[in-house]
Amino acid sequence: MSKKKIAVLAGDGIGKEVIAHAIDVLRASGAEVEFTEFDWGADRYLRDSVTVPADGFSLLANGFDAVLAGAFGDPRVQFNIHAREILLGMRSHLDLYANVRPVKLLDSLLCPLKDCSPEDVNFTIIRENTEGMYGDLGGVFKRGTADEIAVQEDVNTWKGVERVIRYAFEHARQHGRRRVLMSDKSNALTHAGSLWQRVWQEVGGEYPDIEKQHMYVDALALAMVRAPRQFEVIVTNNLFGDILTDLGAALQGGLGMAASGNIHPGRTSMFEPVHGSAPDIAGRDLANPMGAIASAAMMLAHLGLTQEAARIDAAILSAVRQRKLTPDVGGTLGTRACGEWIASHI
Ligand code: ATP
Repeated sequence: MSKKKIAVLAGDGIGKEVIAHAIDVLRASGAEVEFTEFDWGADRYLRDSVTVPADGFSLLANGFDAVLAGAFGDPRVQFNIHAREILLGMRSHLDLYANVRPVKLLDSLLCPLKDCSPEDVNFTIIRENTEGMYGDLGGVFKRGTADEIAVQEDVNTWKGVERVIRYAFEHARQHGRRRVLMSDKSNALTHAGSLWQRVWQEVGGEYPDIEKQHMYVDALALAMVRAPRQFEVIVTNNLFGDILTDLGAALQGGLGMAASGNIHPGRTSMFEPVHGSAPDIAGRDLANPMGAIASAAMMLAHLGLTQEAARIDAAILSAVRQRKLTPDVGGTLGTRACGEWIASHI
C-alpha cells in the first residue's frame, strides 16, 4: 500500500504546539503516512498578506489524502480574517459537509457531572458544516443609527440537509450504533424546521434498522447534561451543532480533549482539534495535546488505518488512566511531557 499523503496546517498559537505532538504520535503508530507542512496562518498573513495561496485549496483537494489542521486565530490580525478564509474556506472549497465530533468520556475524573462514568457519555454529534447561519448572507441597514437593522440569513437546502442526515445514518450503521437523533427548533423556526423534518422522514424511511428520535435543541441541551447515556448519534444544523459540541466537549473534560473530522466521503477530508488557537496560553507549554492527537487517530481511521488509530486511542486512554495530564484537566504535565508520554506508549 502506498503511503497516505497528509497536508499539515498547524496554524497559529497552540495549534503549532499540539500538532507537533500529533505528528510524533502518528509516526510512532507505524502508520504509512507522509507529511507536507504548509505555513498558512497569521505569521504568513502578516508577512505577505496571503491567507491562502491562489491554488491552495485545489492543491489540498487533489494532492492529498487528508488534511491535519491545528488552530487559526491571532490577536494581531483584525477580525481574524485569515482564520475565516483558511478554515471556512477549506470547509466550503473542499465541501466538507459533515462535521463529526465524538463526545467520549475516557474517565469519570474528567467529567464535570457528578457520578458520571464513561458508559454515560459516548455519542457522536454530526454537525452540518457548509450552510445554515454560517454562509455570511444578510446585511446591515442604517448602520450606526438608532434604526439599525441586522439580518443574518439561515440557508438550508434539500441537498445539504439530505446528505448530512444520510451521513448520520450511514455513520450509525458503520459504527454499530442503533439510534440516530435529529435535533432542530421546528416549533419556532418553522421554514427551515419543516424542511429538516420532511428530509428526516424521507431519508429515515430508508433505514428501518436504525431507531429514530427527535428533540428540540433546547430540550436536547438539557438532556445532554441530565441523561447523556441515551444518545448514540445526533445530527443537527451548523449553528446548533457548533453550540452543542462545546457542551459535548465539556462533558468529556473540556476543549483540550475534543477531536473532530470535517468530512466529505470519498474526498480529501480535514481533521482538527475542536479548540482554537488559545492565545492566552500559547507558547507556554500549557496546551493539552490530546484533542489534536485524537483528531490524528480519527484521520487514520477515516483513511482505513484502523489498527494504527486504535493504538493511538489506547495510548491516550492509558495517559488519562495514569494521570499523565495537562493542567486544564487537573494534571501537572506540560504539553511536551504529555505528548511525549503518549508517543512513547504507543
Ligand atoms: P480562537 O480565537 O482561535 O478560537 P480562543 O481562545 O477564542 O481561540 P479556544 O482556543 O477555543 O478559543 O479556547 C478557549 C480557552 O480554552 C482558551 O483560551 C484556553 O484557555 C482554553 N483551551 C482551549 N484549548 C485548550 C487546550 N488544548 N489545552 C488547554 N486549554 C485550552
